[in-house]
Amino acid sequence: MEFSTFNLHTEIAAGIKAAGYTEPTPIQVQAIPPALEKKDVMGLAQTGTGKTAAFVLPILQRLFEGSHGPVRALVIAPTRELAEQTHETFRTLGRRTGLRCASIYGGVNIKTQIKKLRAGVDIVVACPGRLLDHMNQRTVNLSNLEVLVLDEADRMLDMGFLPDIKKIIKQIPRSRQTLLFSATMPDGIRKLTKDILQTPVTVQVDHTAPLNTVTHALYPIDQSLKTGLLLKVLSKTDTESVLVFTRTKHRAKRLGVQLQKAGYRAASLQGNLSQNKRQEALNGFRDRSYQILVATDIAARGIDVSCISHVINFDIPDTTDAYTHRIGRTGRAAKTGDAFTFITREDEPLVRSIERVLGEKIERCTLEGFDYKPAPSRNTDTARPQREPQQQWKKKKKPMSWTSAAALSYKKKPARKAAM
Ligand code: AMP
Repeated sequence: MEFSTFNLHTEIAAGIKAAGYTEPTPIQVQAIPPALEKKDVMGLAQTGTGKTAAFVLPILQRLFEGSHGPVRALVIAPTRELAEQTHETFRTLGRRTGLRCASIYGGVNIKTQIKKLRAGVDIVVACPGRLLDHMNQRTVNLSNLEVLVLDEADRMLDMGFLPDIKKIIKQIPRSRQTLLFSATMPDGIRKLTKDILQTPVTVQVDHTAPLNTVTHALYPIDQSLKTGLLLKVLSKTDTESVLVFTRTKHRAKRLGVQLQKAGYRAASLQGNLSQNKRQEALNGFRDRSYQILVATDIAARGIDVSCISHVINFDIPDTTDAYTHRIGRTGRAAKTGDAFTFITREDEPLVRSIERVLGEKIERCTLEGFDYKPAPSRNTDTARPQREPQQQWKKKKKPMSWTSAAALSYKKKPARKAAM
């Protein structure tokens, strides 16, 4: 299918060309036509599928046609990084439309945002907390809103934003188009969709989608040896950009420093950083001045870096959903990637859940030449890291059909693992 099938304005087609998109991705093929018809859409798609442009293009088309000035479209996103990325997508695809977009999130000066809003914007991309601040202070006027997008809705639920979202929705026009995107469909989101979407068209990328090609491998290891194993894996593997996940902020920070000491261009991204530092780490990872980024799940939400060849789960994620989200960082937009997961004996039940979701056993790898004997010393890696309270993970009682469909879209390809 061609983008021309959508009959978008030439100004928007120019944006698509500038972005370098040659044909629509499967989620775009499915979601753009109903969204252009002003229908509500529930998009079941994970990050990396092209879901952002799937809502950005119909919004640009709709807003281009009417009056410019009041806020007519609002996108709510769970993290600052995702909000920034979506803002950037509006800027790239809408560069010739004259439509103005503002991003609104906490951790930065509110006055600058107020100034921008006062000057007049057509689209607001916001995180829930700061948006509510603006709504309460009446520094944003949403009375002309025509389109609402809830992006990565499942992650907003995980992060405890549901009450804020409900408050926002109560204060915006009822007569509007609503688009909701989520990688998974937990009960809270299912209920929300019933409450806020009007006879939605449901679209999803099925498991034959050729987008994501990720190879999975498990590295059984003693907790105390993980850092050594990571260094060995990195030294033996041909990688582009590498994203390493740890369970806690502290571990992310410490591992980032250890990698730097070992000579790698590495940075860490975790919740304790100031917005400037986060942006610096992200920009550095994006422009490849950092080859390795060590991050926690929440901090990594919304990272869109196209050349991530490897996602390494230094600590296994707590849920199969989180595994799906993490590996969605590699193999993006038709590229291929590898997902390595370091596992200890206690991780076995989770590994089995992940394998169930993938529908196949994941290969266990041993690195030749690596000394697997646990060190007798007081290594701080030894204790299993505890979750941090602000990471509001929820254990799922039953496997979710959505996760299965999403994760199954990761196709097998010949392994590009560390040399054994
Ligand atoms: P998303 O799932 O929206 O985070 O998009 C993942 C990546 O795919 C981003 O880097 C987009 O710029 C890219 N992308 C989106 N649509 C297309 C397309 N039609 N062709 C090629 N790349 C795309």
